[in-house]
Amino acid sequence: MFRLSDRVLVLTSYLFEDVLDADFITFCSTLGADPDVIQGAGGNISIKNGDALCIKASGLWLKDAARKNTFVTVSRKEIVRRHRLRDENLHDLADASGLRPSIETGMHALLPHRFVVHVHCVESLALSAHRDAERAFAERLVSFRHVLVPPVRPGLPLALAVEEAMARQPDASVFVLMNHGLIVGSDTLEETRQTLNAVRDALALPVRSPSHAGTDLESLNDMNWHVPQDDFIHTVAADQETLRLVRQAPLYPDHVVFLGPIIPVAVDGECLSAAIERFERHHGFRPQWMVFPAQGVLTAPQNNVGEMAMLDALGRVGQRLRSSFRPLRTLPAGIIHDLTQWEAETYRKKISL
Ligand SMILES: [Zn+2]
Repeated sequence: MFRLSDRVLVLTSYLFEDVLDADFITFCSTLGADPDVIQGAGGNISIKNGDALCIKASGLWLKDAARKNTFVTVSRKEIVRRHRLRDENLHDLADASGLRPSIETGMHALLPHRFVVHVHCVESLALSAHRDAERAFAERLVSFRHVLVPPVRPGLPLALAVEEAMARQPDASVFVLMNHGLIVGSDTLEETRQTLNAVRDALALPVRSPSHAGTDLESLNDMNWHVPQDDFIHTVAADQETLRLVRQAPLYPDHVVFLGPIIPVAVDGECLSAAIERFERHHGFRPQWMVFPAQGVLTAPQNNVGEMAMLDALGRVGQRLRSSFRPLRTLPAGIIHDLTQWEAETYRKKISL
């Protein structure tokens, strides 16, 4: 339902035909289609034009930008006003088709750059799990105007943390979000693209090849669950080093939102039904996927493409982790707790099909 109050200016995206041009849309869909950069409905991008802030809609996939309207336009001033009041409720800013602006709209509004892109690239997710991540980022990003942002919940806490980081380093164009991802801001699309690519190159880590599913996986599947056709998913279980490291996850917010707060791992020789029953008894909820060490991963039939994309990401991040990173910097417990209670994330997950 379209609503227009005297305080809230919700513009429609046709005003942005000039800036939502083919080059920009191609940039969005290319980024969104690269699972090393954005997974499922994660990540967001915005353009400013005067007071108008055109931003990716919550729950939609950037990779779909070329085939459907993926953006919502809001008043930047109104978003900043709400931020000052510590109000992150954006429900009433839904556009005529009911799309809400991204949960990170506050952060986008506060940044001064015309173009702001926020990604969950696997290089930054893996490196920020390093026990000495601050030093690792400082060494690799020495030639970039960058600043580190400590781990916080997405939404208002992230916007506040980015604001604080800007106060420390006003000319920053690269924001490293610990246990979360990256933000790159610039006044031109070309510079945004080049900076993002250069930062990703600087953060690149060696990647172990993913391991295939083991031959016993089918016989452990006594509930006819899904066997993913994706080696990055199976490698979470089949690569011993990866499993040893990722079972300490979650490392970043979208893992919690889409895959839950605990990695479900079967014990040796346990079949699927027994592993689920044991997990549920211990943790009080039913897992939607199960890791079989040295074999692979089985997923519940109700998993959607968003959850599968996040499992794939776990493998991509896991293949970049090393035992020498330990003890891993995982997502703080308070953030995990907040994420499991937050309505905005439940909404995002629900519509990200
Ligand atoms: Zn994010």
